[in-house]
Amino acid sequence: MRVLFVAAEAAPYVKTGGLADVAGALPAALRAAGHDVRVVMPRYRALRERGVPMTGPVAAGFLPLGDRAEELRVWRGVDDTALLFLDIPAAFERGQVYGEPDDHRRFILFARGVLDTMQYLREVEGWNPDLVHAHDWHAALVINYMKTRHAYTFGHVATVFTIHNLAYQGQVAPEVLGLTGLGEYGLVENGMGPGIGGTFNCMARGILHADVVTTVSPTYAQEIRTAEFGERLDGLLRHRGSRVVGILNGIDTTLYDPATDRHLVAPYTADDVSGKAACKAALQAECGLTVDADRPLLGVVSRLVQQKGFDLLHGALPWLMEQTNAQLVLLGTGQQDLEDAFRYVGARFPDRCAIRIGFDAAFAQRIYAGSDAFVMPSRFEPCGLGQLIALRYGSVPIVRATGGLADTVREGFDGNGFRFHPFEVAHLRDAIARALTTYRARESWEILRTRGMREDHSWTRAAEEYGRVYAFARGLRTA
Ligand code: ADP
Repeated sequence: MRVLFVAAEAAPYVKTGGLADVAGALPAALRAAGHDVRVVMPRYRALRERGVPMTGPVAAGFLPLGDRAEELRVWRGVDDTALLFLDIPAAFERGQVYGEPDDHRRFILFARGVLDTMQYLREVEGWNPDLVHAHDWHAALVINYMKTRHAYTFGHVATVFTIHNLAYQGQVAPEVLGLTGLGEYGLVENGMGPGIGGTFNCMARGILHADVVTTVSPTYAQEIRTAEFGERLDGLLRHRGSRVVGILNGIDTTLYDPATDRHLVAPYTADDVSGKAACKAALQAECGLTVDADRPLLGVVSRLVQQKGFDLLHGALPWLMEQTNAQLVLLGTGQQDLEDAFRYVGARFPDRCAIRIGFDAAFAQRIYAGSDAFVMPSRFEPCGLGQLIALRYGSVPIVRATGGLADTVREGFDGNGFRFHPFEVAHLRDAIARALTTYRARESWEILRTRGMREDHSWTRAAEEYGRVYAFARGLRTA
């Protein structure tokens, strides 16, 4: 099947979170399964500045918007020729990937640019997709356009919309957008009024118009139908019924492989884990912690935001520091209050707690490799990649059983980690305590660790499931 993938970020080009990992790896797995996949993403200023090799422009034009027309150029990747970069200076010559005050306008332009690119691919390259797979709110309007403004040309093309995180919906008050301007944006009304609760909501439009809506774990697919997790779109999601399905993410097992990871001082595998001890000692030394093979070392690599639940871990730290001999290495960035709270603990216990505020992919790898256990106390977690990477690197996950964490981490007989459910400090503390007890029983710990390392979280399995969803969506359009 010919599939056009649309995403606002893709590793290794631009990454702010898990979406980039998915958009970077799933296309290759789909190709291996026989699909012809092309990917479209924005050409951010950072890509130009880093000199990411591109050829082109292969196409150029203008996106008329009100009394202005914004430039559009399409570039083709060199390392990956199936990758197209949309160069819309008005939208992407910016410092940030997201978080600009006019994000909605930027991604409306992006969606318009994607439709023009589809036209170019069809007319010039003779490539017409059977299916468009759009990811998260930034790409949702592509599907909206295909079912409305561009129905005549692309209405027959099947559409799949994937929710990576329902918390980010691309909402904007109609006044900001200039609702009279909806026509100007080419976004005709769609029976929902301007959107949910009087706002213009990109994600809601994706959910409404897509042939199939997927999200990144079976448990999250159920959770988002409830008011607790539904972020005010639970009614709409229930309305879509069985068209909303959960497919667990994989990880890039070539990129995340302790046997070949060049960031590690010593490679290791599930069959020979001896190199992991060297990684742990190196991490302790790098972070100024006491170098001690017997002390359990907890790792954290995460955005420090409300969703990730690190207020719980912060609450458990007095106990962890006073009642146990565990060490902590935390790498994260996000909310100021959480960053400050953890910095304070790091300054107080410098040989026990290493707190690094920032985003550092190489250091992240050394944490996965050097830590004994990996903590993810998320309030909610659509899928979570951290625990999957941790499993592969033999860092035993300690997680809150929600969303994808509940689908991938098991505790007990035949388990691969530790889990708790009530969102309370005491429950996280108990889960860590159970992990530390097992850690002292060396042999049990090693069995648990190796079991996790041997699990298959590759994209191959996920690609098979997406293939089935694509076939189903395609069937709806051709029936
Ligand atoms: P989310 O997409 O919600 O941030 P995921 O667990 O799905 O959470 O994916 C997070 C990804 O980003 C993982 O690959 C993780 O290692 C990486 N990551 C998160 N924070 C950092 C950081 N500060 N430095 C380096 N990598 C990070």
